[in-house]
Parts: sequence; C-alpha cells; structure tokens
Amino acid sequence: MCGIVGYTGEKECEDILINSLRKLEYRGYDSAGIAVFENGKIKTVKAKGKINDGLVKKLDEEGSLKGVTGIGHTRWATHGEPSDINSHPIGNGRVSIVHNGIIENYRKIKNFLIGKGYVFESETDTESVAKLLDYYYKGDPTEAISKAVTDIEGAYALGIIFIDHPDMIYAVRKDSPLIVGIGENEMYIASDMTALLEYTKHYYLLETGEIASISKTGATFCDIHGNEIKKEIQTATWDISEAEKGGFEHFMLKEIHEQPSAIHKTISPRIKDGMPCFDECGLTDDMLRNYKHIFIIACGSAMHAGMVGKYLIELLARTPVIVDIASEFRYRNPLLSDKDLVVIISQSGETADTKAALELANEVGADTLAFVNVVGSSIAREAKMVMFTYAGPEISVASTKAYMVQNALMYLLAFRVAFARNMIDEQECRRLVSVLETMPDKVGECLEDLDPYRKAASKLVSADSLLYIGRGLDYALSMEGSLKLKEISYIHSESYAAGELKHGTISLIHEGMPVIAVTTQSGLLSKTVSNMREVRSRGAYVIAVCAEGIQIDSDSADFTITIPASEDMFMPLIAVVPLQLIAYYSSVLRGNDVDKPRNLAKSVTVE
Ligand code: GLU
Repeated sequence: MCGIVGYTGEKECEDILINSLRKLEYRGYDSAGIAVFENGKIKTVKAKGKINDGLVKKLDEEGSLKGVTGIGHTRWATHGEPSDINSHPIGNGRVSIVHNGIIENYRKIKNFLIGKGYVFESETDTESVAKLLDYYYKGDPTEAISKAVTDIEGAYALGIIFIDHPDMIYAVRKDSPLIVGIGENEMYIASDMTALLEYTKHYYLLETGEIASISKTGATFCDIHGNEIKKEIQTATWDISEAEKGGFEHFMLKEIHEQPSAIHKTISPRIKDGMPCFDECGLTDDMLRNYKHIFIIACGSAMHAGMVGKYLIELLARTPVIVDIASEFRYRNPLLSDKDLVVIISQSGETADTKAALELANEVGADTLAFVNVVGSSIAREAKMVMFTYAGPEISVASTKAYMVQNALMYLLAFRVAFARNMIDEQECRRLVSVLETMPDKVGECLEDLDPYRKAASKLVSADSLLYIGRGLDYALSMEGSLKLKEISYIHSESYAAGELKHGTISLIHEGMPVIAVTTQSGLLSKTVSNMREVRSRGAYVIAVCAEGIQIDSDSADFTITIPASEDMFMPLIAVVPLQLIAYYSSVLRGNDVDKPRNLAKSVTVE
C-alpha cells in the first residue's frame, strides 16, 4: 500500500509529483505530502486527507514549492492514525524519506535513537528509519543507506533525499515495489509504472537489497556492500489512456466496460489451434497429469477467482483442488509437497501474503504457477511459471476486470487439466474453448443497458445488511458479488450457499431484507428457487439474477435481472457483471467515493 514518487530533472517538480501521486492514489489515500529542494533547503508540505482535499489545498494556501528535485507520498496508514504529522515525507531537514511498508523492529531502533538524543514527533514506524539514516549520514548517502538497511527489519520501499545532494534521489527496497523511471535529462522513482506513463515508458526495476543513486542524467545501482550492479532497461507495454478515466464517471465503471476486450486479450494468445496452450510458461500435459494436488492460493477477489477455478477443475478434471486464503495458508504449515502444483493469483503481483505463500511453496519444491497482471512484479519474478492476465492497469480499488480475466485463465487451465488427465477428449476441449471465446460478446451484451442494475441497487441501498445466495458456481460467484458490495457501498452482506441457509442464517431474514439470488445453474435451479421462496415467505425482498430463457415466477422473486444465457459452466463470467454493477450503483447512490473506498487500498503490500 501507499504510493511513492520522486523526480529529479530540469523542470519544476511540484506538478509532476502531484500528478504522479494522483495516479497512485489507489494505493492509499489517507494523507499525502511532498518534499522539494528549494534554494538548497528541503521544504515539506503534507496533509491528512486525499491529495486534492489536503495536500493541494495546503499548497494553494501556503504557496507552491519551487524546485527541480523532490519526493512524494500518498499514505495508507499502518502505524499512527492519518494526520498531518504522521504523513510522509518524514525527516528533519537533513534527510527526508517516503516509505511504503512496515518496519517491524521500529521500537528497538527508536529506543536506540532516543538514547542518542533524538526526539520523535510522529507515531509512525517510518520515522525510526528517517532518524536512523540521519544518524548514519556523514556525507555519503549510500553508506548511510547501507548501514540503516542492515539494522532494519520488515518491508520497505524508500525514496530518500539528503541535504548535501540537492540534485539526487536515493532509493532502496525490500519486498515493497519500486521502479526507477528514465526520461530525457530527468529521472523518476515510483511504486509502479502507472504513475509515470505520462512521462516515460522506460524504467529500471529495483530489486530487494539494491540501492539506487539517481541524478537527472541516469541512475547507478549498488548492493549494500557498495558493489556496482548493472541493470537492464525495461519498457512498459501499458498506455497512458489505460490509466485515465476516458469519459467515464469512475475508473470502476470504465474497467467494467473494458472486460470484453480484457477477456479477449487474455485468452486469445493462449489458444493455439483451438486448444488451450500453456507452452509460454512451460506447463506441460505431463506435468498436469502427475501433480498429486492442486492448490490455488490468493486473497480477496483473486481468491474468489480461485473458488470458481476449484469448481471448474473438479467438475471437468475430476481432480480435487484446495483453495486457500494466502494469509491462512502461509501460517498453517500446509500439507504441501514437491509433487503439487500451487496456482498463485494476484492482480498487482505484490500482495504480501500471497507472495509469502509463493515463497513457501517454492521452498517446499512445489511447482508454482502465477496468474499476475503486472509484468515485472515480485510474484511474476519469483514464481516458477507465470501467465500474465492482460487486463491493463486497474485503478479502481474494487477489482472488476482483473477478477474477470483471472477467471478466464482459470477456464483455460481447467480445460487443459481435464484434457491432460483424459477426462475430456480433444473435441470436447476445443468445443469448450470455442464457448469461452463467445464470452467477450456475452459480457458486452450485459453492458448494453445498465438500467436494471441501477434499479436493483435502488432497492437495496437503504438496507443495513443483505444476503447473496446461490448453489454451485453461483455460490462461488456470490462470494465475489458480496465482497464487491461491502467494499464500495459499506452495506454489510454475506454470501451463503443457498442450501445452508436453513442451518442458522435464515433467522436473519426479516421484512424487507434484500436477498440477491444468483440462479444461473440450470441443473440446480429448482433447488435454489425453493430457497428463494423460503426467504421470500419470511419477508425478504428477493432480487434474482438469472439467464435468459429461465422463468422465475413472482412467488420467488420481487425483481429479476436477466442476462445472456450460456452453458451453466460459463455463467460466472456473465453473471458477475450485474453483481459488479449492483455494487457500483449502490456506492454511487450512497454518495461514496467509488474508486477509493474508505479504509482500503489496492495492492496490499503489508500482511
Ligand atoms: N508504515 C508506514 C506508515 O504507516 C507506511 C505505510 C504505507 O506503506 O502506506 O506511515
């Protein structure tokens, strides 16, 4: 979480820093700040609140910062409440830093420094690093950084400026991401490439343990022992238009509309001669035949894509799949061996718990296959095999298109596992692939008329709590629908296997309580409809999401949303669209900040 930026060059940097920070606001937005060299002095302006509400207003009041070298930060607080004083940059006039991550041994460092006479002002873990750098700084920045990072434990990406080097930025990282952008007579740092797309597509990826010394003409890299490191220039494939709203009111709405093309971009390069093809990552049929267990490990929406994957793989390949939440998996000494496949899913490729789960699986010697959206991310680099999802940059904190394409890849994986294990023949495999190829159009059809979703949202927007119910794949999908609603509308909801309601949860039903019933699985329809009747007869207001051709009578639902039909197995890809849009409009109707919901941030780089 949190976004870091930095600039050194020939232009006034305030606007560049703020503009870049805005692109990173999805990573954290409880406070923001910049520090700029102005006439040889480090001047800092920082404020609680989103960039426009706090920092920009303060700069307007106090006057802008004039200088060509500076660093900036947008925060997602981990230590210390969001406040002006806890905002970054943090420093003392000699050294100033921006930090993404958590310093685990900050108390020890703080006590040590207090013993040396330092006085602490903020409640942050970050201040211990700022002061430690100051303590070690005797004129040589890389020496001070090397000494400081030897002492600190935890995760960090740091952008640093030192008073005697007004035309330089320094950076170092461990676990949290950081890149060094390359311009013409100007250089940048940023937590990710979306911040810099307007200025450059070329960058260096800073690796754990590397220290970057950056001037306007370029960057040099060394390890903590001072050994020089040569690095290759990377080029981003994303385009600036992908990181802008392009006429939509919110990024979330834009990203929902990008789903048809995202599915197409993600699946088409992986279909060779009508068959799903995993050659690009080296995953062979032989390997798929021989794995003892398949695990899918992820967090949040990515974990829900894993749930869909489990239903599909078990259905088609008759192979058990264990789906686990990364933060649980990593600490429960999982029953994992070098004969297993571990599929890791992460949009950012930096999700801290998912990355730790990957490291664990690699250590055990399991084969690891990552579905990741960000090229060059830690998970993409550390997994033995990687398949990129081509969703493009996802800016809205609530994931839509990334979840969609994680699912799309899951379908191809399920087909290939089933084929490799002789549970479906080539003809059936091709047929399934051809149905998958119709999904961009079906998803597109769902987006032709948004009115039913807006109406459905208006029916539930004043509720305190609601339930999502479904069976089979509808249940797997409901989990994502419920999460989406909670994330951005702040209405409490739970997803429930429809058949499980009677075992306790049905007691929550009261007059007018909304229940969203996902009823796309024709084989389970009559069962789900019975459950809808049960809740409706106890006062629930039932909103049904069903496929064209299915008749839901008025005894079972109060409001019905009809979506294009396909085979049951493919319905999650279509039915997620109404669930996303119901959540979206609920958030809009409640007047919430759809793209930046409270307390949340994207790219969860802390555990
Ligand atoms: N731990 C630091 C703080 O709370 C940085 C948090 C972040 O990565 O946003 O200020």
